[in-house]
Amino acid sequence: MSSPEAPGEARGHAEPPPETVNQRVAEWNEAELGVEGTLLGVVTAPAPVLSAEGSRVDPTAPEVVQLAADLVATMRVSPGCVGLAAPQVGESVKVFCVDVSEHPKTRDHHGTFVLCNAEVIESSRNEKAREGCMSVPDLTGDVKRATRLVVRGQLPGTGETVTLRANAFEARALQHEIDHCDGFLFLDRAAGAHAIHARKTYL
Ligand SMILES: [Zn+2]
Repeated sequence: MSSPEAPGEARGHAEPPPETVNQRVAEWNEAELGVEGTLLGVVTAPAPVLSAEGSRVDPTAPEVVQLAADLVATMRVSPGCVGLAAPQVGESVKVFCVDVSEHPKTRDHHGTFVLCNAEVIESSRNEKAREGCMSVPDLTGDVKRATRLVVRGQLPGTGETVTLRANAFEARALQHEIDHCDGFLFLDRAAGAHAIHARKTYL
């Protein structure tokens, strides 16, 4: 996921108190993987890999560990990028990275992490906001997403199963990346053509 050029105003209700972050996930970083990440090219719509459901992976497999490192490396060099999923680099598998720590709409968060085989366990409190995507470089869209989320997945390398509570912008980024792994783009979630906008500037 990438930041839209014109983030919407924060809307509505008073913010709930911060959820407790999962310390294991918050302390994770790509150094744990023990391999150097390589920069990968990002594919853009309508590449078929973007609309295919990714396969589940063995999070301990060396190729998955390498992919995790590559995703983080590619996210890091991409301005405005707050998450990148394996299908976006041409790999039809359920692996993605997220890091919303630098984003102005972030509240509490887990820093940089990679999840394999992630699934949404609980979601609530939908809110509409603008999203962008490196695989859809010319458009942004207004997408309704849950602002409170519980996600379960596995860490690459160790294969530990982790459950984390996310809110606000991190919750949005997680739903966007899990969607990629299931073969959906934000365009599939936007509420019709009026919710799709031309991107005026590249981030
Ligand atoms: Zn995306």
